[in-house]
Amino acid sequence: TISGFKEVQEEEKSQMVGNVFSSVASNYDLMNDVMSGGLHRLWKDRLISKLNPFPGMRHLDVAGGTGDVAFRILESLNSVSYRPVQDVLQDNLQEETQIYVCDINTNMLNVGKIRAQKRGLEDLRSLRWVKGDAEALCFEDASMDGYTIAFGIRNVTHIEKVLAEAYSVDKLGIRVLKPGGRFLCLELSHVEAPGFKQLYDYYSFCVIPALGELIAGDRESYQYLVESIRRFPPQDMFASMIADAGFQKVEYENLVGGVVAIHSGLKF
Ligand code: SAM
Repeated sequence: TISGFKEVQEEEKSQMVGNVFSSVASNYDLMNDVMSGGLHRLWKDRLISKLNPFPGMRHLDVAGGTGDVAFRILESLNSVSYRPVQDVLQDNLQEETQIYVCDINTNMLNVGKIRAQKRGLEDLRSLRWVKGDAEALCFEDASMDGYTIAFGIRNVTHIEKVLAEAYSVDKLGIRVLKPGGRFLCLELSHVEAPGFKQLYDYYSFCVIPALGELIAGDRESYQYLVESIRRFPPQDMFASMIADAGFQKVEYENLVGGVVAIHSGLKF
């Protein structure tokens, strides 16, 4: 039947995503730098500046992988106070601020924990690593001030379910964001400008899989990543999906002509 076929397809997608990230975890951060020419760092910085973190916040970074977004949030809280990171993290933040990194893949989380150790953050109670599915979050209703998802929503099986877990009008306006909470999504998106589009297509379809093979010995996973970008809804359509989930003040910003976009929404 059609629904049986759809279920198999969906199961295959989540298995495929699981395999891809288990396979790329150890090279993930290096590959990010190589493929984006380091630009992913600036894109993530932009995401954090839009989030505007504050001490004492409870924040959920979904599909948080190796912790890049969470580390930046902690750094941004620290830089505001102009004090050495350990001091601030030990007293001011420890009891109040909670940053949760939630990811479905244990390998990615393990790489993140090692990175946290290298930064001297392993004992930090403000930083929590949680294995979990974006489509069925293991966090309480109205428990988070902020929600970010960076380069993650494109890989999930049902985008609507992910949005509904952040905030759902169908579920009487509950789920994990508190009233006043912010949703921010950084994702590879769609380039339309003629000329640049052709160049970008060549880079995605030819250069990225070749780099995957050369550096990580894994052409297929990177081929999958490129195809998943093509299948992701264009900026306006994705903005409508966020609004349909119940968010207000939905907007997006294109970076590098739409190579990536940051979508945001507010829960009233
Ligand atoms: N946010 C990190 C960053 O920007 O560096 C990691 C992004 S990585 C491209 C995508 C992540 O999404 C992977 O770590 C993968 O395991 C995770 N992921 C895929 N499907 C997921 C799901 N349903 N729930 C939670 N995480 C998921």
